[in-house]
Amino acid sequence: MTNSKYDVTVIGSGPGGYVAAIRCAQLGFKTAIVEKYDSLGGTCLNVGCIPSKALLDSSEHFHNAEHTFKEHGIDINKPKVNLKQMIARKEEVVVQNTQGIDYLMKKNKIDVFKGLGSFVDKNTIKVNPKKGKASELSTDKVIIATGSKPSNLPFIKLDKKRVITSTEALILKEVPKNLIIIGGGVIGLEIGSVYARLGAKVTVIEFLDSIIPTMDKTMGRELTKSLKKLNFEFH
Ligand SMILES: Cc1cc2nc3c(=O)[nH]c(=O)nc-3n(C[C@H](O)[C@H](O)[C@H](O)COP(=O)(O)OP(=O)(O)OC[C@H]3O[C@@H](n4cnc5c(N)ncnc54)[C@H](O)[C@@H]3O)c2cc1C
Repeated sequence: MTNSKYDVTVIGSGPGGYVAAIRCAQLGFKTAIVEKYDSLGGTCLNVGCIPSKALLDSSEHFHNAEHTFKEHGIDINKPKVNLKQMIARKEEVVVQNTQGIDYLMKKNKIDVFKGLGSFVDKNTIKVNPKKGKASELSTDKVIIATGSKPSNLPFIKLDKKRVITSTEALILKEVPKNLIIIGGGVIGLEIGSVYARLGAKVTVIEFLDSIIPTMDKTMGRELTKSLKKLNFEFH
């Protein structure tokens, strides 16, 4: 059943989708956004940029308490990691940010539909919510902003327990003793830094001849030096 008519429907509410939706609304188009997950903001806000930066921040405080306070003349007892609290704080940061997107949608009068979006035809988008009935949106234009997923490797089984992606690494229950990271790109090195600061032995396996291989080689060299200070091993 077609129940709404829009000028633009955006599928996916990550930084690509929500920014496009806001711009469309600002330009005077009646705009809808469709998101299959419970909260808006996509990978970046829910399991990417924001939670990883929250953990980087917390782990840096821990690292400083353990290694640099003394030289500043601050004597404390040996700090202990409370990973449960660290992860809980990260969740709070995520909620604040995703609620910010809810607010932006309201402020710009963008209708939000929660559910899996799919094409019925070029002017009709079906929204299948987790619970309840599907609805159909009639739309003049569609913006597909469905983002990406962590890639899989053919030689290893991702069981999401021992062999995990960055998403599971953001909700670990304990600091692993050893963490092997396949791929020395920004995401792997960021997650590796968090757990190295919290006490894990981190080993990075990179196929190319330097880490962050898509960036300037000198940056890769400098980053290697500073990560080695955190006891990172590179292969
Ligand atoms: C750990 C980590 C750290 C990162 N750190 C940074 C950083 O510091 N800086 C930076 O610039 N980038 C960072 N990134 C990358 C960044 O998250 C992505 O580049 C960004 O999220 C891409 O935005 P997007 O809108 O294209 O897609 P996404 O953010 O992936 O959003 C796509 C959305 O579409 C939804 N969707 C998909 N299919 C459907 C469908 N059929 N119906 C309804 N909804 C659907 C998904 O549920 C998702 O919410 C990081 C990524 C990770 C994993």
